[in-house]
Amino acid sequence: MAGISWQYVFKFIITGDAAVGKSSLLIRLTDQRFIANPDPTLGVEFGSKLITIPEESKVVKLQCWDTAGTESFRSITRSYYRGAAGCLLVYDVTSRKSFLNTRTWLADVRQHADPHLTCILVGNKVDLCQDESETQAEFNAEPISSVPPRSEFSNSKSKRQVSIEEAELFAKEEGLLFVESSAKSGLNVERAFEQAARDILEKIHRGA
Ligand code: GDP
Repeated sequence: MAGISWQYVFKFIITGDAAVGKSSLLIRLTDQRFIANPDPTLGVEFGSKLITIPEESKVVKLQCWDTAGTESFRSITRSYYRGAAGCLLVYDVTSRKSFLNTRTWLADVRQHADPHLTCILVGNKVDLCQDESETQAEFNAEPISSVPPRSEFSNSKSKRQVSIEEAELFAKEEGLLFVESSAKSGLNVERAFEQAARDILEKIHRGA
């Protein structure tokens, strides 16, 4: 997108447990590819991407920072959060522990980041919930706000450990946006960032 000018620059941070797919989401967003077994020592730390918000006729430059290995120390510094307008709070839908830990990550974010920061809860690796992938793709074609209950998603073949209902409820209680994604297939990756960017723009318009 060389030569395209943008109207806004938003800093995004990507947090969550190790191995939930933070680097993979960043690579998918910025490079449209997936690496099956990335070398953890080569953790991608930064990537930028231009996205268009059509209804606003605005181009936004996203500057995205991955925690790149620091998650095991829970030692994210204030400088990492400084100036961030958006945060992806990532868990792995096949790891209940990673979902439960998002509470701690959220507390960390709330302690250090701007109180107006837009957070989107991202349930990644949804491609591993085999029998759901088709329905999931359809379901995600709808606006996130009109997501219907998904009790039909629970079946024995799925590796899913976190239901959509549970994640949605948590997101609602905490005032987070929510989406399920797959860095592997690309499902909803750009959409997650877009959704958050749209929310940030709305806050700017409201003067929040
Ligand atoms: P990070 O530590 O949170 O940055 O996680 P990584 O991006 O390094 O991913 C950890 C592992 O999960 C790697 O083997 C990835 O290939 C894999 N992975 C990441 N995202 C997905 C996904 O959406 N689906 C599947 N099946 N695997 C994924």
